[in-house]
Amino acid sequence: MSVPAGAFGLSRASSGEGALPHRPGAAWWRAPVDHLPGVGPATAERAGAIGIGTIGDLAEHLPSRYLSYDSARPIGGLSEGEEATLRVTLDSISVVPTRRRGLRIVRAKVHDDSGTISAVWFNQAYLAGVLEPGDEMMIRGKVSLRPQRQVTVKAHEVLGGGASEGLHTEGLVPVYPATEALPARRLREMVDAARPLMPAAPEILPSWVRARLALPTRADALAAMHFPRTAREPRSGRRRLAFEELLVLQLGLIAVRRHEEVARRALPLAPTGEVIDLVRAGLPFTLTAEQERVARQVSRDIRRERPMRRLLQGEVGAGKTVVAALACAQAVEAGAQAAILVPTETLAEQHLRTLDALLAPAGIAPVLITGNVPRAERDRREMAVATGTAQVVVGTQALLVGDVRFQRLGLVVVDEQHRFGVEQRQALAERVGSGADAAHLLYMTATPIPRTLALTAYGDLRVSAIRGRPPGRQDIATRWVHEEEREDAYEQVRAELRRGRQAYVICPMVEAGEEGIGARSAVEEARRLAEGPFRDFRVGLAHGAQKPDERRAAMAAFAAGDTDLLVATTVVEVGIDVPNATVMVIEDADRFGLAQLHQLRGRVGRGEHPGMCLVFAEPAAEDGVRRLEALVQTNDGFRLADIDLDIRGEGSIMGLRQSGPTDLRFARLSRDRRSLAEARRIAKVALERDPRLEMPEHVLLGQAVRAAFPDMPRLLDA
Ligand code: ADP
Ligand code: MG
Repeated sequence: MSVPAGAFGLSRASSGEGALPHRPGAAWWRAPVDHLPGVGPATAERAGAIGIGTIGDLAEHLPSRYLSYDSARPIGGLSEGEEATLRVTLDSISVVPTRRRGLRIVRAKVHDDSGTISAVWFNQAYLAGVLEPGDEMMIRGKVSLRPQRQVTVKAHEVLGGGASEGLHTEGLVPVYPATEALPARRLREMVDAARPLMPAAPEILPSWVRARLALPTRADALAAMHFPRTAREPRSGRRRLAFEELLVLQLGLIAVRRHEEVARRALPLAPTGEVIDLVRAGLPFTLTAEQERVARQVSRDIRRERPMRRLLQGEVGAGKTVVAALACAQAVEAGAQAAILVPTETLAEQHLRTLDALLAPAGIAPVLITGNVPRAERDRREMAVATGTAQVVVGTQALLVGDVRFQRLGLVVVDEQHRFGVEQRQALAERVGSGADAAHLLYMTATPIPRTLALTAYGDLRVSAIRGRPPGRQDIATRWVHEEEREDAYEQVRAELRRGRQAYVICPMVEAGEEGIGARSAVEEARRLAEGPFRDFRVGLAHGAQKPDERRAAMAAFAAGDTDLLVATTVVEVGIDVPNATVMVIEDADRFGLAQLHQLRGRVGRGEHPGMCLVFAEPAAEDGVRRLEALVQTNDGFRLADIDLDIRGEGSIMGLRQSGPTDLRFARLSRDRRSLAEARRIAKVALERDPRLEMPEHVLLGQAVRAAFPDMPRLLDA
């Protein structure tokens, strides 16, 4: 691989092997890492395996933390339970077999001037073949002194000695995400070799932005991360990189929204009151203030010609459906059709019943279109949709994939939108139309996300929320039950059943051995409970591997009160509403996400009796413990979402976005809330000054935005 010689400050040939230019040009940034002195093809290949191809990639491979060996502690002065860094010499090392299958421990004897201690590694047997007696090394880990003096190693580093040793031991030493083949030490040497090239880092932030927020240049920020002189430097460097990343994202998201707004026209759905008033008059309850507020927002949005793109958040039971029904009513009275899209057949059927009841007073009969509807009947219904006789349509993705034609589609409501895959959402976006015949779009989700995340994941949408649950909802008391209290908990459940209430038992798997060993399966659990602890009660079973008819029958029997206890997988997460069910037992709760656990327990406490949720779990990891503690402590889904963000980071949630990058490299939303707000503000200012980002100082920024949103090539052209 060669790089055009003229592109560098100096040509490679004339500068001699390994020499780097004095004033590096931008081409260096894109040069492969084996152009660095001391980096050969083998190392380049290992670097490639972790996504480092170019010198720029290497420079952006940031340390995950720093070690300061000035703070190395003497072995003689350690105390129980502390985490400490030690500088030691290795005396002996061996692999120790354990009784636990699959677990191997490496144990080493190490010493310094003040004493000796054992160092222990879990599941890194290869170390016994790599480390040798006499090795000088730094280790960091947790100290315990009884029953024996031992440090459980979290990180270690062999000190090589020699001229460049200072790189690995002096001052703040960066620790890079590394692999066995490419250890942190080697990465540190590579980054050091690239040091003279840092000034080649392309600067995409215009100087007015840097000045306003007092941010360092990109080159300085990277240098601060890799070669910090003080503990503050990496922080300011990282802040700059995170800000830049968030700015690019916000620019893109705002541009997406603008693009949609100018490029698309929807039917303006002006309310006349004809239908809405009848629907409102027929409601069996009055709307809460929150529902009224959101209903007003939606009503205002959809009377415009500009297509609505709104996300409505509200936990399970918050009362989103009636808001959707009112919007449908407005569409109908404006002479248009409305479609409600849901992720599962069960939910579609449930929605049909609910909407049927809500819209009946206005004489509207919603139509169901799912894969389950027999072909002939489906043809008939699709015809009704095409001719406009069907005014409100409820359906699954069958509504998207087939060639269902609407006569005059004005509004699409997507319920439980987080359960749709990316492809389905894209199909939807295409389906609801481009150009002149776009539809208004209302996304609803029961998995609330923190506002910071909403801005990032859904920056192209407007967001509303219904907080809290409607009046009349019962509290749900949640208890985390340990194995030894199982009998006791079952007695609590039986007591409820004897009072005539019903209970769910949720298992993470359908059948045993499906994934991992030990998790309870619905099929076996149903048998066990029916023959054992609940032999005096009627036990039902519902799971996703059943035939739809069988599953429906099981759910219907439970809804009708013909079974007392329903053992199920998460198929009941949505789409079942049994007011008489007051107990939710969740097995292996640590296998579910926090949002899902919260959704599950929302299935009880829906009637006149308070709900009870018993979660069984023995989480192996700290995160699991924190999640369960949070679940027990609060019933507020928005609060839980915040906690979840702190525990998990945003990684998996970012995939919710419809366009643009799906993850963040530098920013962490739980930590960079302020940068996010700043980025949003700056993005608006920049786009106001220069809507296409074409002024010289914005050109590179514009390129970065386009690169981040490759599926929207004309993003900034509007
Ligand atoms: P979700 O937000 O989970 O979709 P739903 O719309 O299904 O919630 O509402 C849950 C239940 O609360 C329904 O049975 C509905 O009839 C009832 N409900 C909705 N709004 C109110 C209200 N303002 N007062 C009393 N009950 C309500
Ligand atoms: Mg709902």
